[in-house]
Amino acid sequence: MDSLSCPAKSVSDWSPSATSLKSFISSGRGKWSSVPDADWNDWRWQLKHRVTSLDQLESLLPTLTREERAGAVLARSKLAVAITPHFFSLIDPANPNCPIRRQVIPRIEEGNTAPWETDDPVGEDSHSPVPGLVHRYPDRVLFLVTDRCAAYCRYCTRSRLVSNAAGYDFHPEFDRQIAYIEQHPEIRDVLLSGGDALLLSDDKLEHLLARLRRIPHIEFLRIGSRIPIFLPQRITPELCAMLKRYHPLFMSVHVNHPNELTTEVRDALGRLADAGIPLGNQSVLLRHVNDSVDVMKALTHKLLMCRVRPYYLYQCDLIQGSAHLRASVRKGLEIIRGLRGHTTGYAVPQYVIDAPGGGGKVPVNPEYVLSHNHDRVVIRNYEGKVFEYPEAADGTPIILPAREGLPNFGFVPTPASRRSRYFPKFA
Ligand code: SF4
Repeated sequence: MDSLSCPAKSVSDWSPSATSLKSFISSGRGKWSSVPDADWNDWRWQLKHRVTSLDQLESLLPTLTREERAGAVLARSKLAVAITPHFFSLIDPANPNCPIRRQVIPRIEEGNTAPWETDDPVGEDSHSPVPGLVHRYPDRVLFLVTDRCAAYCRYCTRSRLVSNAAGYDFHPEFDRQIAYIEQHPEIRDVLLSGGDALLLSDDKLEHLLARLRRIPHIEFLRIGSRIPIFLPQRITPELCAMLKRYHPLFMSVHVNHPNELTTEVRDALGRLADAGIPLGNQSVLLRHVNDSVDVMKALTHKLLMCRVRPYYLYQCDLIQGSAHLRASVRKGLEIIRGLRGHTTGYAVPQYVIDAPGGGGKVPVNPEYVLSHNHDRVVIRNYEGKVFEYPEAADGTPIILPAREGLPNFGFVPTPASRRSRYFPKFA
């Protein structure tokens, strides 16, 4: 069936209920029902049998649209197609707007480039002192380990690099990357990413972690990975046992839609959590994937059930050919407004825009502070009710030794504190 023969249904026609969004369901085997358990549960088998070609897409997904077919051809020179059997099994073949499908199956719109879109939208290359290392913030670095991922996201900020379809030819040089970190004592935090660091063998990853741990000023290691979602089979007990030797080690995973949190993924995240690894999630706000309060609320609730703290909600970067996947900032703010106060605070991620060109992450929040002057702050709560809070004095109270015969309030007045004694009347 091509797009012209798809039934005329709107996205909302496919909207599942909140209860079904929050259910944990196995990925099943989809088209691989005859594969033995031992193979299906082997991460190397999953990698070897990824869906990577147009022929495979056509045979496994008979509802492939004309736009997707053209997108798959374009992807050969832009960002390769690769989808693990596990993740492919989550696609609803009957739904042309399936939120899983939109993330990994290319579309012809990837060929449309707006003037503000670039291949390096957050200026990583210009903040790279040695190949594979991005030093944008004062005390931390991004350490790119590989240009390969288990599957490729169509909106990837590093599309220029990952999969090498565009000929970037990335070769990490671990010795130079590590030497730079050794020579910069201000670096206390290293984030391993790529590509996906968990694609390295246990031995290779351990070698890298051990070298980083030996650097005295490195306090904190992080791994950014979508492997627990694309390839939960990779989260083996052996991997977890190795990772726990390098604490404090945190992991940021990347889940965009509640359907990605299958029973297999929940169990893999549980193994990481049991290894003492604090887990956070980074979602990208994507049109017709997670750009609604209901979907994001179900996602953040499910993440907490998996012991993962929703950490960031990213506005989609201005990567070339991503306009069809970008939701508006207005929508992002609406989602945060729909979460904050309406659900558990732990379930509310920080919404950020990674400033184009390399300005770093900028938090973007709905307007809760209506006005603020030297003596009061006017604030709005999640129900829209307005309150006043008397501004505190910035002068630091100092405890003074008591003087005989005098009560000791231990307070040295400052101009600001003198003003604050005259509290405004509450409205
Ligand atoms: S897993 Fe991360 S690095 Fe890999 S394609 Fe997706 S967004 Fe890009």
